[in-house]
This record gives sequence, structure tokens and C-alpha cells, in this order.
Amino acid sequence: MDRPDAFAADFLQVRQAAKLTKMLNDLIGPPREPGCEQLREQLRSRESKRLYRRRLMLESPQQTHISMAGREYLAFCSNDYLGLANHPQLIAAVCQGARQYGVGAGASHLISGHFSAHHALEEALSRFTGFPRTLLFSTGYMANAGVVTALAGRGDAIFADRLNHASLNDAALVSRAKFCRYPHLDLAALERQLAVSRAKRKLVMTDAVFSMDGDIAPVAGLLALCEKYDAWLMLDDAHGFGVLGPQGRGTASRFDMDSPRIVYMATLGKAAGVFGAFVAARPEVIETLIQHARSYIYTTATPPLLSHALLKSLELIEGEEWRREKLTQLTARLKDELQSLRWKLLPSTTPIQPLMIGDNDEALEISEALRERGILVPAIRPPTVPSGEARLRISLSASHDREDVARLGAVLRDVNKGFR
Ligand SMILES: *Cc1c(COP(=O)(O)O)cnc(C)c1O
Repeated sequence: MDRPDAFAADFLQVRQAAKLTKMLNDLIGPPREPGCEQLREQLRSRESKRLYRRRLMLESPQQTHISMAGREYLAFCSNDYLGLANHPQLIAAVCQGARQYGVGAGASHLISGHFSAHHALEEALSRFTGFPRTLLFSTGYMANAGVVTALAGRGDAIFADRLNHASLNDAALVSRAKFCRYPHLDLAALERQLAVSRAKRKLVMTDAVFSMDGDIAPVAGLLALCEKYDAWLMLDDAHGFGVLGPQGRGTASRFDMDSPRIVYMATLGKAAGVFGAFVAARPEVIETLIQHARSYIYTTATPPLLSHALLKSLELIEGEEWRREKLTQLTARLKDELQSLRWKLLPSTTPIQPLMIGDNDEALEISEALRERGILVPAIRPPTVPSGEARLRISLSASHDREDVARLGAVLRDVNKGFR
């Protein structure tokens, strides 16, 4: 019989507590939003270090001349290397795909969201890249998360280039495997780490083309080490697919190898001009991903109309060699144009041409000065790049022309005068 009493006592206490809270509120004002002051402080600190990021807002399609707030800019910002993001044939394919499949996939791949368009694209990508099987993911970020966590866990070890993309690092941390990073491109350091590892399973992972430096991983050397130490090699070719190799088949094809140890990932929102990503590898790897990759299983499939458009994109990538030839010409032209600057281009042969500045403030100032003159080049700052290595990331597209690059050169030389 003491339970109702206890309940009544609790109830009274609750009433008293509520009264007390009200009294306090009357004294000190309404309760603050939890933690917002702390967040404001954190944001202010980021701002004061000149690390605050702000978004541009485009009002036109992604292309070399874009419009923002009613003004037109010549842009060197996007990863649309082949100039396909606004291609009329892709737009037509999207419309046709929408008529055939509707808009949304409506379910995950393992329930009822796997459409014939997804499947046809997977088969076309296997043919194109030369890997036995392919699996589509919604984004590159999710593909990396899926592969790394499906292949490595507790008791395993991951070996990663220090300048790898954030998505690979995040995936490694989530996997709970031991995470060893080696200095950029340093095969000897990697070998020392592999030699002493007692992990059950080893996974070496690298950007194939480094996203903020534009240089290319020593894939053949990495593969040799993986053979020697019985490790998997995961290549993230977000920036090589469509751009490098014969017909744009990517970085792996450039090194002409078909080792069963390679797990190849590439994205479809960069050179391919659309959206999404895929992983290509041995059938056992792909089946493992279908069974275990959580970022594949627990998410809605991408709209099949995108896969439908990507089939067309793949045709253009394969068939229009002139886009890659043009990129090579534009890259050479850019190097010429920027030779006399106090800032130096990194030694990159890809369409990613970073102009090294160093200081965050200076990088922002240059980017701002270009913007005032109608040219957009993003300033890349830490933590995207190491501290003290702020840069302008100039990215070229096959739809730029020689005059665009000449104009960038002239304006940069002019801005450069202000910094002597
Ligand atoms: C862009 C990028 C990703 C992520 O791909 P999304 O499809 O944009 O999520 C992964 N790795 C590298 C190296 C990238 O540059």
C-alpha cells in the first residue's frame, strides 16, 4: 500500500521542482538554448583564423561561365573535367529516363530499388574498366565507407597515404581497424609499416589522383608491396576516372594491370558529369559488399534516371577523345601563362592545377581579387590541406577554351603585382 504514497510524494516533488524552475526563470530570464553559446564561440574562433567557409550560390548550370547574383563569372572551380554536367545529350537522357522509370527509386537496392538501368550501368562499367564486377553506390563518400568497413574491422590494419581524401580517413576510423598513415607517396615508409604488421587482414588505400594536389599515386609500386605483404589495394580514382588512361578508363588502366587485389572506386559526379559512384573488383569482393556494406544496404537507391543518363555519359567519355586532348593542351597553356608568378604551380599533369600560396589570408585575398575581376578560383585551406599549405585550386575543364586560360593568366599576373 505504500506505492500510491510514494507516487504522491514524487508528484509533489515534481510540482515543487516546477515551481522552483519558474521562480528561477523569472529571476534569470528564459532558459538558453543548450550549448549554442559554445557553438557561437567555436564559429567565432574559426572565423578569426580565416577558416570560415561560405557557400557560393549558382543560378546557372555547372559550366565554365556561371552566374551568381546576376553576375557572370569565368569559373575554375568544378570537378566537371570533361564538361559533361550540362551536356544536351545527358539532359535528354535524364528526361527519357524519367519517363521510363519515374523520379525516385523508392526503396533500397536489396528491397525493390534495384532497377534495370542500375544493372545495365554496372555491366557497362565492368566492361569499360575491365574489372569483373561493379557495384553502384549513391556517393563516393558512401562507397569508401562501405568498402573500408566491409573489408576491415577489429584486428585488421589500414595503411593510408597522409594526403588521402577525408572520406577514406573517416571510413578507416569507423572501421575500428588499426589506422596507420604513411607520408605522401612514400613507398619505403609504407613498406616499413607493412613489414611489422601482424594484422589479420591488411588494406592499403590511396587516392589515385590526389584531390588537392593533382599528383598521381605510384600505383605499380603500391601493388608490388601489396603482393609482397598480402594486402588489398584500394584505389580511389575520383579524379582519374574519365580523365586518365585510354578512353578515360582511369588510373588503374593507365598502369595496365588487373590484379585480383585491387578494389577500384570512382565517382560519377565529377568527370562523368552526373552523380554517384561505383566500386569495381573481383566478384567475391562485390558480393561481400552487397552482403556487408552498410552504406549500400541501408539507404535508398539513386534515381534510376541518373543511371540511364550515365550510360550516355559513358559513351561520351569513351568516344570523345578530344575532351582529354583538350585538357592536356589547356594544362600546358596554363603552366605557360603562370610561369612568371611569385606563386608556383604544383607539379601536376592532371586538370587539377594547384597554385601554392601558403598563408590562409593571402590565399583568400587572391581568390577575392580574382572574384572582383569576374573569375572564380577557390582558396583551399586547412583542414582540407595541411596547415601552411593554403592554395588556389585551379581546375580545368574540356569546355574551357584557350582564351579563358589566357584571361586567368593575365588577371593573376595583374593581381600578383599587388603582392611584390
Ligand atoms: C569527391 C571525392 C570523393 C567523394 O565522392 P562523392 O561522390 O562526391 O561523395 C571521394 N574521394 C575523393 C578522392 C574525392 O575527390
